[in-house]
Amino acid sequence: MTGNTIELSARLSLVASFVRPGETAADIGTDHGYIPIHLVQSGVSPRALAMDVVPGPLERAEQHIRRYGLSDRIETRLSNGFEKMVPGETDTCVIAGMGGPLEEKIIGEGWDCVRKLKHLILSPQSDIMEFRRFLHRKGLVIVREKMVKDAGKYYTVMDTELREDGEMPAEDSIYLRFGACLIREKDPVFREYLEKEKQVSLQILAGLEKQDSGRGRARAEELREYLAAIKEAEHEMQ
Ligand code: SAM
Repeated sequence: MTGNTIELSARLSLVASFVRPGETAADIGTDHGYIPIHLVQSGVSPRALAMDVVPGPLERAEQHIRRYGLSDRIETRLSNGFEKMVPGETDTCVIAGMGGPLEEKIIGEGWDCVRKLKHLILSPQSDIMEFRRFLHRKGLVIVREKMVKDAGKYYTVMDTELREDGEMPAEDSIYLRFGACLIREKDPVFREYLEKEKQVSLQILAGLEKQDSGRGRARAEELREYLAAIKEAEHEMQ
């Protein structure tokens, strides 16, 4: 397969597109290794690090890297988060495809490396509002964010930088809940995501309103708040 061009899914393409040309990149939790392979093969990154904490996925990444003839420019490392990385070793780091709490843990524990990065590209797949709060607390400012739909699911990708001018949005703010960049840039996929969220929430709410339990009422109230936030975001994007 040497010489063939790797084809990425829509989600991985968006993640990779956030890496700036000329920057070296580390991919934490690389699994298949497709992001570093694409970055080096396309000439975006002169070299890359592919890291994973589990030997099986790392071996799979190694096989793919060999198959594409890139072993001289992509190094693999068995590493728990940033553990086996030296601060300043790469310009950019990608952490994608994990739950928000795990990405938070990796960032927190690898802070010596994180503070030396030019950019940290993140794609958490759960607990995203709490994840935004965490980024603000750490001074990691989201400078770009885009959403992508891949195989029927929505994913967000954040480009972050350590800065001192980041302002924490108010606790009940739609910026904290949904992301200021997605709203301000009127991201078309995010708009579609809001519409889907609205329809699903309305359907659940209709069911809950027929019930009469304390838990049901509390959940219904949460959904009403969520729907109000969706409405506010949609209004802002008009
Ligand atoms: N990043 C790829 C993507 O977005 O398609 C792969 C995502 S895959 C679902 C998650 C990978 O992260 C797995 O290969 C897992 O072994 C790895 N992983 C989980 N915890 C990790 C940690 N603490 N450090 C490094 N890798 C980790």
